[in-house]
Amino acid sequence: MNEPSEVRVRFAPSPTGFFHIGSARTALFNWLYARHTGGKFVLRIEDTDTARNTPEALAALLEGMRWLGLDWDEGPEKGGDYGPYFQSERQDIYAEYLQKLLDADRAYEKDGAVYFKLLGERYVEFDKYKDAEIEKVRTEPITVKDAIRGDVTRNVETDFVIRRSNGDYGFHFVNVVDDIAMNITHVIRGEDHLSNTARHVEIYQALGATPPVFAHIPLILKVDGKGKMSKRDEGSLIEEYVKRSFIPEAVRNFLCLLGWNPKDGQEVMPIAEIIERFDFDGIQKEGARFDEKKLAFINTEYLRALPVETFCWLAAPILTEAGVIDEHTQEDYLHAILAISQEKARDFEGLPELVGPLFKEDFTIDPEAHKRVFKKGEPLARLAELIPALEGVDPWDEQTIDNHILSLAEKMDQRKFDYFPIARLAISGQAGGPDLLALLRALGKDRALMRMRRFAEREAES
Ligand code: GLU
Repeated sequence: MNEPSEVRVRFAPSPTGFFHIGSARTALFNWLYARHTGGKFVLRIEDTDTARNTPEALAALLEGMRWLGLDWDEGPEKGGDYGPYFQSERQDIYAEYLQKLLDADRAYEKDGAVYFKLLGERYVEFDKYKDAEIEKVRTEPITVKDAIRGDVTRNVETDFVIRRSNGDYGFHFVNVVDDIAMNITHVIRGEDHLSNTARHVEIYQALGATPPVFAHIPLILKVDGKGKMSKRDEGSLIEEYVKRSFIPEAVRNFLCLLGWNPKDGQEVMPIAEIIERFDFDGIQKEGARFDEKKLAFINTEYLRALPVETFCWLAAPILTEAGVIDEHTQEDYLHAILAISQEKARDFEGLPELVGPLFKEDFTIDPEAHKRVFKKGEPLARLAELIPALEGVDPWDEQTIDNHILSLAEKMDQRKFDYFPIARLAISGQAGGPDLLALLRALGKDRALMRMRRFAEREAES
């Protein structure tokens, strides 16, 4: 899409078994930046916590990324020149870098653990949280030029563990070593890591390496703006959207807007356009609110814009699963119904309910709809007039049906639309749905008339 460049970004998750919306957004922003700049998008698995990092957890992550269409250029299943891409397989590399720090006198061993050694005057202070005296260091302040947050200046005050006594390496160390060894040029990650960055820069400097550009992206907040969205909040897992048959491109479009906007307020955009326009200056500093209504709206926009063939192809398994259609359902009929329902559908999740009555003869009459239709006029009289009038319709197409209803209305001194609500109720049990004439046509003459007669009979009985 863009000229190849030297940009190398990475998504470095620690798989837990779920693909959280925050992780997905971090992956997405890295992917967008790589595609925007013509760089490389690396997937690195930070699986140092062996208890939580199971094959299932990895599978959930890779599946989620694939569902969102976030293809990586290097990483698991793909390989690349900077592998291995699992931290658990990079022990030799960590040992080598640890040795560099020891040789440079920037690390030391104490009680079996290895600490990173800060430079500066040392003093002892009482720490009331730890309830102990701790050694602190007067270091040079570190100023990180964050591409989103501007200059962020911090002091690292205490030496920190880079290898625990059990031999496991600490997060800060392996994270930085991998970014150096993998030639990462831009670190795009959640703002929760901003506070780690000064430590990371200390490690870069101690290893004689140039830090990458840091870009800390805003937290995702609950819709009311009060507090950070957590893994327990509803809607926070990508797999929920998979299960609920959301359109992946719609979810991706929505995630793009969680902290980024194209400045002209446009929201629904093809991904190629987002890639073209995506840059750090469009990323906001303040937290991004997670608005499920906006997601639902975007999903509906995508659904209605699908080519009808795609819509049918995606809808069929959902309707089968819901028991709405089966192997006896006629292909042409299914297609005709879906073609007229697409513009009325909000989501695939609600589709079985929306079209269900059109696929079975024992559909229920919605009591609310019934009440509404029977509130005024004489719907049963209209229906009794309509049935014989429609019997004469030939050919059974929208124009001819419409003409017949129109001349019936004129003859009976009624309005055309006095016939519509009762017709709809009789053939679908509902008050809304696809365009009535289109629906009548799609149902077919026999089925439509049979439903009307049966409705009239039932009403007469009750
Ligand atoms: N494994 C870390 C995380 O999942 C990576 C942080 C980073 O991107 O540097 O939060």
